[in-house]
Amino acid sequence: MQYVHDFHTADGSARDLLGGKGAGLAEMTHLGLPVPEGFTVSTSACRRYLAREAAPPGMWEAIMEGIHRLETRTGRHLSGSVGAPLLVSVRSGAKYSMPGMMDTVLNLGMNDSVREALSRWSGSERFSWDAYRRFIQTYGKVVLHIPGQAFEDILTEIRVDRAVSDDSQLSANDLEQVTSAFRAVVAERADDRIPADPEAQLRQAVDAVFDSWNSDRAVAYRRLHQISNDLGTAANVQMMVFGDLGDDSGTGVCFTRDPATGEKIPYGDYLPNAQGEDVVAGIRNTLSLDDLGKRHPAAHAQLVKVMSTLENHYRDMCDIEFTIERDKLWVLQTRIGKRTAQAAIRMATEMVEEGMLDRSEAVLRVDPASLEQLLHPRISPKLDVAPAVVGVGASPGAAKGSVVFDAETAVERTEQGLDVILVRWETTPDDILGMAASKGILTSHGGKTSHAAVVARGMGIPAVTGTAGIDVDEKRRTFVVGGATVDEGDIITIDGASGAVYIGDLPLEEPAETPELHLLLGWADRYRRLGVWANADTGAEATIARERGAEGIGLARTEHMFMGDRIDIVRRVILSEDAQRKAALEELKSLQVTDFVELLEAMDGMVVVVRLLDPPLHEFLPDRWDLEEKRVEALAAGQDVAEIETMMATVAKWEETNPMLGLRGVRLGLIIPDIYRMQAQAALEAVAKRREAGGRPRLEIMVPLVSTTEELHRVRAVVQEEMDMAPGTADGSSEVLIGTMIETPRAALIAADIAQEADFFSFGTNDLTQMTFGLSRDDAEASFLGTYVEEGIIASNPFESIDIAGVGALVEQATEAGKSANPRLQVGICGEHGGDPASIRFFHQAGLDYVSTSPHRVPTARLAAAQAALGESTSDASV
Ligand code: ADP
Ligand code: MG
Ligand code: MG
Repeated sequence: MQYVHDFHTADGSARDLLGGKGAGLAEMTHLGLPVPEGFTVSTSACRRYLAREAAPPGMWEAIMEGIHRLETRTGRHLSGSVGAPLLVSVRSGAKYSMPGMMDTVLNLGMNDSVREALSRWSGSERFSWDAYRRFIQTYGKVVLHIPGQAFEDILTEIRVDRAVSDDSQLSANDLEQVTSAFRAVVAERADDRIPADPEAQLRQAVDAVFDSWNSDRAVAYRRLHQISNDLGTAANVQMMVFGDLGDDSGTGVCFTRDPATGEKIPYGDYLPNAQGEDVVAGIRNTLSLDDLGKRHPAAHAQLVKVMSTLENHYRDMCDIEFTIERDKLWVLQTRIGKRTAQAAIRMATEMVEEGMLDRSEAVLRVDPASLEQLLHPRISPKLDVAPAVVGVGASPGAAKGSVVFDAETAVERTEQGLDVILVRWETTPDDILGMAASKGILTSHGGKTSHAAVVARGMGIPAVTGTAGIDVDEKRRTFVVGGATVDEGDIITIDGASGAVYIGDLPLEEPAETPELHLLLGWADRYRRLGVWANADTGAEATIARERGAEGIGLARTEHMFMGDRIDIVRRVILSEDAQRKAALEELKSLQVTDFVELLEAMDGMVVVVRLLDPPLHEFLPDRWDLEEKRVEALAAGQDVAEIETMMATVAKWEETNPMLGLRGVRLGLIIPDIYRMQAQAALEAVAKRREAGGRPRLEIMVPLVSTTEELHRVRAVVQEEMDMAPGTADGSSEVLIGTMIETPRAALIAADIAQEADFFSFGTNDLTQMTFGLSRDDAEASFLGTYVEEGIIASNPFESIDIAGVGALVEQATEAGKSANPRLQVGICGEHGGDPASIRFFHQAGLDYVSTSPHRVPTARLAAAQAALGESTSDASV
């Protein structure tokens, strides 16, 4: 078993074995770049070490042989007293970069006599003390687990005392003093001393790097990012080079392209007379690459070449650590650089133009989920203003407007041409119209899955929820934040990505104009097999969806059309009988016709799937406690309470213990068939109107919550009857398909039978997940689901990404069974999962025909569907 791999001979693509950092160092060495000599102790050594809780046999001998080869090649020696002593860094590096998770020891090999040798070699007493204090500092942190702050405090104190702004201005004496103070910290805080023997130091440092794999921080990070605990980390032992030798030295980080904008201009930060982490730590203002060019023309020119070598080699934007030691350039690390969504798209498309990538590679380069960031306005990243309060970033995008405290006022003021932000304790279904009218939503209660959050995301409206720092008084029409009072009409600005809330009017930037995005999505469309449709309830939403590339409406929820100011009519439908009910239904129908005409017009030539009414009826009824209050008030005022009491009786009649499993969906449609009949008539009338107007309406009618074939059969008969009577449909010129949602496990299990009655299936994966797990989403997310995920009882929230093993199995079986029973069956999915890239990959594999998602996730779905078709995982983006 070979545990030690010299950079010279190691395989630069073996990231499993060497970790990302080790593989990069080997690869750069092969490319002839100036990398300090060294070797990698492999992840397999780490795995064995962790399993045995001790170094595996032979590992230590192999490391010492590696040191001897290093000494021979560099001509330097550990503990050397003549010439340059060999100092090394011991650097952790796992397959996936885990920023800040596992640390690095610098200047290992240091002790009192080595410091003297170092001083003689460099001719700088100051440098030798700086190197010493850095060794104690990093060794103390990584090996002895002393909190870094203890060392930082000492540095701060002496800087203040000497009245200097940064460490580079401290003298040799100062740094000698810092070194003693650091030693005292170690003596006081740690049980162990730092051994003087470099070999003992090395042994403990390698152990510490391996042990750090199982530190709480690292374990938590891996769980969050779903990285396996079994990988282990490598340890890289590398000759030190020194950026802190004086003004002719320094250290820096650079990117081969601008990571914020994607522009093809190298970007970098450089600090003279500094080492390692100083650049990232932000303790001094850094210099630009141009400044570096002025100080070190030759090293700068060489760095520019290194950048292009690495970018061409990895065919991607690289992030590079470098050090300049007395005018000589050294390269210390490279990896694929992190970037904004905007930069990712620009780089991918430009690299195709440059001939570096082909189009399919470009399509695979961009994270589909990141596209959502691009479609909302944002607060300019250059603004440096502190928020008044921070809540939960529930729906991304920035918004500003004058504060209103109820839905009605939101609608009124919007009609007057104002931009408003709806501020509430929490929103309810009654607020829908006010929410739709608002530019943004701010609530003091509820989290990422609260009503406000879910609805706002669905509408693509920025929202900040659960803002405990504000006190909303809807009656007085004010809210209080940090002692300040905000009144109705005052302007606030919210950032639905970060959760920040600002009092006042902040300038917003429109999402960057990106022809590159259109180009990239155009390419994506050519690779994908899945259709991408949208869920939209209004003509306006459908228009947005279509602009973003939706090829149909997979779910138009008619119940949204029942809410708001139409709720009184709906109540009359439920509460009254016969003639009165008929009149109310007629009234509703004419409203629905208008709704459907708008949808069909916006999507002319494309399919619009209208779902018949779904939610439990009691949602339309007044609250029982409100009624009780009204009754008491009316009694006190000596008024007649008969009407209120009738209403109360009806409300009581419809009350259910578990409405989610009660009278909803098709069940309601069969108990009060007039409602579905009216909806079918309205939809067919809308089709006729569109045809008269010369349009090409393509209507499909969808029945919710079916779990027996007979349910669908009966509703189908009703709709068919209406179709037979409707003008223009009998001649077959505009065929209206009738299909069903598959959202109960039973429906999935008897899919072959249901398919005989259905022209299409659409999986409602939200309900299907609830019913397959036997849990209610709202209750679960509010109480135990978080704990389940944190403790690893389930891998992830099944409402965000589909549970492939359970719910996914139902989807797969039902698709196959349905399609073999009815070869013309179209199969789609319209749950929230339709916009989740991992779920989309699964739906592609399961053989679905399309996914339908909210309008703002359509670009995400197009890209994810293409990536699924290209059959590649995109999660593994780091070198
Ligand atoms: P991280 O993974 O946290 O970036 P690194 O192993 O890259 O940790 O090291 C931390 C810092 O020390 C980096 O700035 C790196 O460039 C620097 N460094 C590491 N090894 C050496 C070395 N042999 N010579 C000079 N600087 C080094
Ligand atoms: Mg690094
Ligand atoms: Mg449902």
